[in-house]
Amino acid sequence: MQNIVDLVNSTRVYDIASDTPLSMAYQLSMRSGNTIYLKREDKQIVHSFKLRGAYQKISGLSVEQAAKGVVASSAGNHAQGVALSASKLGIESVIVMPLSTPKIKVNAVEQLGGKVVLHGDMYDDAFVYAKQLEQQQDLVFIHPYDDIEVISGQATIAKELLKQNPKMDKIFIPVGGGGLIAGIATYIKHYASNIQIIGVEPEDSPTLYQALKNGERVALPEVGRFADGVAVKQIGEVTYPIAKKVVDEVVLVSNDEICAAIKDIYEDVRSIAEPAGALATAGLKKYIEQNNIKDENLVAIISGANVNFDRLRYIAERADLGEQNEAIIAATIDEKPGSFLQFCELLDSHAITEFNYRYTPNDQARIFVGVALSEGLKEKRY
Ligand SMILES: *Cc1c(COP(=O)(O)O)cnc(C)c1O
Repeated sequence: MQNIVDLVNSTRVYDIASDTPLSMAYQLSMRSGNTIYLKREDKQIVHSFKLRGAYQKISGLSVEQAAKGVVASSAGNHAQGVALSASKLGIESVIVMPLSTPKIKVNAVEQLGGKVVLHGDMYDDAFVYAKQLEQQQDLVFIHPYDDIEVISGQATIAKELLKQNPKMDKIFIPVGGGGLIAGIATYIKHYASNIQIIGVEPEDSPTLYQALKNGERVALPEVGRFADGVAVKQIGEVTYPIAKKVVDEVVLVSNDEICAAIKDIYEDVRSIAEPAGALATAGLKKYIEQNNIKDENLVAIISGANVNFDRLRYIAERADLGEQNEAIIAATIDEKPGSFLQFCELLDSHAITEFNYRYTPNDQARIFVGVALSEGLKEKRY
């Protein structure tokens, strides 16, 4: 893919994108016995890397294309990247967002100069409508990942990494449609084929994992929406053949592990990543644990930080589960004297963190109880 390498080396994305810092994560490093760095895409002005791809694409349009204006569909980070890039270049942008998009995200896109059209219940509906507008109003469609220019824009991260930390052993990259990983991995393998590229996906939206396993792209019947930045049904048509060649492995993580990684990132660099933004860090932790990695130089991308403030309560609660500091037990017991006491005895000396007791009509009781786990388990976490 010489094309991607050349496009990166002649890029104009720094008109608008920052060459973001690579922060050492001291606590994660100490706990795991490795040297761990986090690539700070949360520091971009739109708090995600998406403006790199959007600007690379839009800045490369011909004069005639630019005069038509651009259209994109997105519920989140791509929308902001396109709106900002287009405004900067004096090009009009129309962004189709699902009706359910939070007002805060709609406002952000409007403030960046994008014209928002609310349409459909889900991202897929917005996508279809944006493709209609492309035809009807003769606009240029800007795809969030399935486009060589967009992929090359995301790949500019790789050039920065090689300069910032040439000693890397492995890079952990979140995967949605696959543009970010296809771009970074292609550039890295071209200059340093010894560096390993590990993709990370949520267990409930494993698009690249399933495609590699089946040897072809698979449309997932359902995808989890927790890490909304990577909630895609199918890996890209353009990105998959590239990823297949340059990605070494894919790790899957649970939503609780993502929440625990959000906390780790906060503790190390005082940034609050969105779930997709913390995905790579969650994968890095899991990979170290599963493969007993020591003394390696590892990098995870913090890909975004656009999280609604009101979700933080939920994330903080789940983080303890992901770290295995806490376990939730659900049990049904007979509603008769002594049985609750017996249940409590089973909990031994564990501290109770949460408790719920509910009668059911058939002389039984349903109990949900959260218990703190021992220091021993805590120490094993890293
Ligand atoms: C878009 C996005 C991703 C995934 O990028 P793809 O190119 O679709 O694989 C990961 N994290 C965040 C925060 C994103 O916005």
